[in-house]
Amino acid sequence: MPETNFFTAERQRMVDEQLIPRHIRDPRLLDAMRTVPRHLFVPPKVRHLAYADGPLPIGQSQTISQPYIVAYMTELLDLQGDEKVLEIGTGSGYQAAILAELAREVYTIEQHPPLARRAARTLELLGYRNVHVLTGDGSRGLPEHAPYDAIIVTAAAPHIPQTLLDQLADGGRLVAPVGGEQGQILQRWQREGQSFLAENLAPVAFVPLRGQFGWQTKEWS
Ligand code: SAM
Repeated sequence: MPETNFFTAERQRMVDEQLIPRHIRDPRLLDAMRTVPRHLFVPPKVRHLAYADGPLPIGQSQTISQPYIVAYMTELLDLQGDEKVLEIGTGSGYQAAILAELAREVYTIEQHPPLARRAARTLELLGYRNVHVLTGDGSRGLPEHAPYDAIIVTAAAPHIPQTLLDQLADGGRLVAPVGGEQGQILQRWQREGQSFLAENLAPVAFVPLRGQFGWQTKEWS
């Protein structure tokens, strides 16, 4: 079987065995998960594990999240197709590609320049024209392009900074893992005018968010 057919089959299997049984239902999201070539976002030495049911190392002590967690967090954003989305923690660029399949425009920010460069190159090679990769401290958000209809934080924050909530459009959703080294809870926030409603959803395990509103290395090395 040619390599491309092999990976297409692996993606279909990932959706059938990891996502549908765990109640991921949005048909557009399931299509995106069947479409985006996850194996091109991971380093060659772990490519054979790209569609396995877990996170993988991507360099700089960082990880690409488990496919199910990518799908679950994305589903919580409730994207319909016309949104402007901010992702904090580009990593490999895989989550940004999934968002780009489902929303109008994606801004994604990464603290490590080598990861940002590699993600931008992969996204460009795959033809994603609606993703903007930036390098810097995303814990402050990206006020110059706010407001966002959805914000996704893909690293564990000590708390949700007010500055991020302020960058949500009215009705906008923010999804983030909140907590420390011992574990975190996935939270979804929704803005209604000047009110912010928070829900605690599921226990998760992420690498730390750094930067001004993130964990300092003396708190989480
Ligand atoms: N979404 C990524 C993907 O699809 O591969 C996985 C993200 S990884 C779990 C978390 C990422 O957040 C890491 O690449 C890390 O360098 C980044 N990060 C941590 N703190 C950050 C900050 N303050 N600003 C921007 N990126 C940050």
